[in-house]
Amino acid sequence: MQELLIATKNKGKVREIEDLLRPCDIKVVSLLDFEKMPEIIEDGKTFRANAAKKAVMIARHTGRLVMGEDSGLEVDFLGGKPGVYSARYSGENATDELNNAKLLKELSGVPLEKRTARYRSAIALADKDMLVDVVEGSCEGVIATEIRGTNGFGYDPLFLIPSHQKTFGELPLSIKQTMSHRANALREFLKLLEKYLLLK
Ligand code: IMP
Repeated sequence: MQELLIATKNKGKVREIEDLLRPCDIKVVSLLDFEKMPEIIEDGKTFRANAAKKAVMIARHTGRLVMGEDSGLEVDFLGGKPGVYSARYSGENATDELNNAKLLKELSGVPLEKRTARYRSAIALADKDMLVDVVEGSCEGVIATEIRGTNGFGYDPLFLIPSHQKTFGELPLSIKQTMSHRANALREFLKLLEKYLLLK
């Protein structure tokens, strides 16, 4: 069975990626399964650049086939912020709670029609010799005016899906997996992986 190492320690991401890859004949491991791994400084200006850096660094270090994923939230009223800084939006000691509180503050008084936003995800594939390619996916939504629900992670309790009138915090994972930025990127990633394994 093909093994794929996911270059992340984010439990929310690992859970979603594992769930989406379950029907495929792929054994998923992540950085959570290893003790010593190099620290990855996410200093790219784009999701693509950060995804590629994560995949290439860990593939070179381990000699394995690696997936690097970088994602974040772009809020139109904030000119695309927090973007690549989504994980660290509220500073060095950022937590999901602090990030959500900061986002609500920055959007305080902004009407719902101006709170449009999207999640973006870039997913890179690398082996020990090269970066194979990077694919992307996105998901449109609206930032709610209060925290709603406890499902998911990160900004999910604020990310409202207009067609469902519910946030990803309120919707079950099975629904998020049909429309999320990560699921959309992963569909493209699977095509890339299939081609790579055929040509290898
Ligand atoms: P990074 O890709 O490790 O730089 O972190 C991405 C950050 O973007 C996460 O820590 C979350 O704050 C946010 N994010 C990315 N994808 C999601 C998602 O599916 N739900 C909620 N927040 C997300």
